[in-house]
Amino acid sequence: MEFYKPSTLQEALKLLNKYGENALVVNGGTDAVLDLTEGRVRPEAIVYIADLPELQSIGCEDRRVFLGGAVTYSRMEADPVLSGVRGLMECLRRLGSPTIRESGTAAGNIAKGATAADCSTMLTALRAEIVLAREGGQRRMALPDVFAGPFRTAIEPQELITRIEFPLPEENEGTGFVKYSRRRMQDIGKILVGARICVQGGVCTGGTVSLGAVNRTVVRSLDIEGRIAGKTLEEIREAVRAARPAEAVLRDSYFRHYKELAVSGAVCEALEAAWKDAVQKGAVQGKEAVL
Ligand SMILES: Cc1cc2nc3c(=O)[nH]c(=O)nc-3n(C[C@H](O)[C@H](O)[C@H](O)COP(=O)(O)OP(=O)(O)OC[C@H]3O[C@@H](n4cnc5c(N)ncnc54)[C@H](O)[C@@H]3O)c2cc1C
Repeated sequence: MEFYKPSTLQEALKLLNKYGENALVVNGGTDAVLDLTEGRVRPEAIVYIADLPELQSIGCEDRRVFLGGAVTYSRMEADPVLSGVRGLMECLRRLGSPTIRESGTAAGNIAKGATAADCSTMLTALRAEIVLAREGGQRRMALPDVFAGPFRTAIEPQELITRIEFPLPEENEGTGFVKYSRRRMQDIGKILVGARICVQGGVCTGGTVSLGAVNRTVVRSLDIEGRIAGKTLEEIREAVRAARPAEAVLRDSYFRHYKELAVSGAVCEALEAAWKDAVQKGAVQGKEAVL
């Protein structure tokens, strides 16, 4: 097995073009190294990308947040613009451990394609897009369209996620994230919910709601999005608790019964957190601001 540590993006893309599906991209390595040591993958070449200078940028331009493909969770946590996106901050706080966040990346979370993926779930609610580069070109894909099945994505072996982008939430938008897991820290989520809602005149005028760990992939819940539009917080609570989201398609497992019972509560909690965020930003006043 060859090990490559390219010094430029172009060099990395050239290697991926050469080795195709026989290459393994290693970023923070928190998933990829386990896959290697446990024999789940047997690549001919490892392409280590964590230090590529082209993948390190983080910032916001014209109210659009961008994260390079090798930006770690700990850098996201420390970023002053992202610190105002409360749902994302909660997601990072609950993700893994400080050690995992020091090397793990949002790009790696997306590219792994797991359904119980915290950051992919929150970025889906934030309406994120990824930029995929290959030798000689690039394309964009929205989340969750990139997720093709359990641990499968639409990312080609010759491609790298070079950038993740999402629109910075406006002053009248709030974000929330909820993770139910067996242990509070260092555990894979059993139910994940991300929410981004717009609140105007005391009602939710629209929003994006994403679910993780309750379907084959991270999904958007158009069902919940439809149920909350035009409603006050109290009406949202009633509408959400009425039935579990149509997109929560639960497979037979030890946790199925628990998930069936708990998923509506998790969605409600995420929406309440997003509403609270909007209240604190000043989008909701008067009696509608009472939680
Ligand atoms: C102890 C432990 C706890 C964890 N806890 C959580 C948790 O709470 N929540 C959670 O969601 N995950 C958790 N994880 C999983 C993991 O940390 C995350 O999925 C992390 O985001 C992966 O990022 P990485 O940079 O380490 O990716 P890597 O491990 O380097 O790569 C993961 C996959 O993505 C591909 N890849 C990486 N970067 C790119 C890129 N830029 N372009 C194209 N392909 C790429 C790799 O080829 C590989 O297939 C945990 C893992 C461990 C070991």
